[in-house]
Amino acid sequence: AAGPSDLPPEVWEKVKNHPCYSEQAHHHFARMHVAVAPACNIQCNYCNRKYDCANESRPGVVSEKLTPEQAARKVVAVASTIPQMTVLGIAGPGDALANPAKTFKTFELVTETAPDIKLCLSTNGLMLPDYVEQIAAMKVDHVTITINMVDPEVGAKIYPWIFYNHRRYTGVEASKILSERQLLGLEMLVARGILVKVNSVMIPGINDEHLIEVNKAVKSRGAFLHNIMPLISEAEHGTAFGLSGQRGPTAQELKALQDACEGEMNMMRHCRQCRADAVGLLGEDRSAEFTTEKVMAMD
Ligand code: SF4
Ligand code: SF4
Repeated sequence: AAGPSDLPPEVWEKVKNHPCYSEQAHHHFARMHVAVAPACNIQCNYCNRKYDCANESRPGVVSEKLTPEQAARKVVAVASTIPQMTVLGIAGPGDALANPAKTFKTFELVTETAPDIKLCLSTNGLMLPDYVEQIAAMKVDHVTITINMVDPEVGAKIYPWIFYNHRRYTGVEASKILSERQLLGLEMLVARGILVKVNSVMIPGINDEHLIEVNKAVKSRGAFLHNIMPLISEAEHGTAFGLSGQRGPTAQELKALQDACEGEMNMMRHCRQCRADAVGLLGEDRSAEFTTEKVMAMD
């Protein structure tokens, strides 16, 4: 994991208290998610819309949906209870940029009421090029893009469709558009000095070997961190893949792939695949302390 000695000072400034970008920081700093983004503009085969987006979150429990006003209030309540809470992320339950009005309104309100909180968002990348200017203007320093392929033939097995420019695309055509938009968005963010983490879901037999290609493609475009996450299997949440018998990788398979990519770039290994409304240190979930009912009752 990155430390102060091997990073330029301006980069270290951005990672030192972000639990997801620095292995050291994840022991000391907490992040929270607010579930303000219900809609999604693509379909991932591993997604079951009843659950949270697998971009950044462990499926299995539906997050409580919040308005931007409720979300901002929750951020203030959490920040006053958990002083180590340094980062607010928007990561679903759908896609942050398929709900741009809600996502940016939330950031705006939080900037007004809690200006020290760092802003972070997670997206499938389809709409990213359209919002890079706004992301930079809102001083969002960290963006996660879920990139599961750079080859549309592989993508066609992962994404049945995307909804883009007022129409639905399917098959290889859909994945070609998605991949181009993801990589363009990545380049645009890097050009503005925004740190980008790439999440990839490792799906045995579908994209496991291909993720080495993905790793090279995102590294060459300046991604800061690559987080390869295991597909969570049917036993845990009944995905479309799960229903057709798709298994998740074993711990050994995951580690072998992470090792194969290490040396190429920083690999994140402390990810805990948190929920879209997670609160606390990574691996800790204090969301039950901050339900809307409780937050609205706080002063
Ligand atoms: Fe589901 Fe997230 Fe994929 Fe959208 S981007 S289909 S919410 S896993
Ligand atoms: Fe961490 Fe991702 Fe949440 Fe940002 S969106 S705080 S990187 S888990």
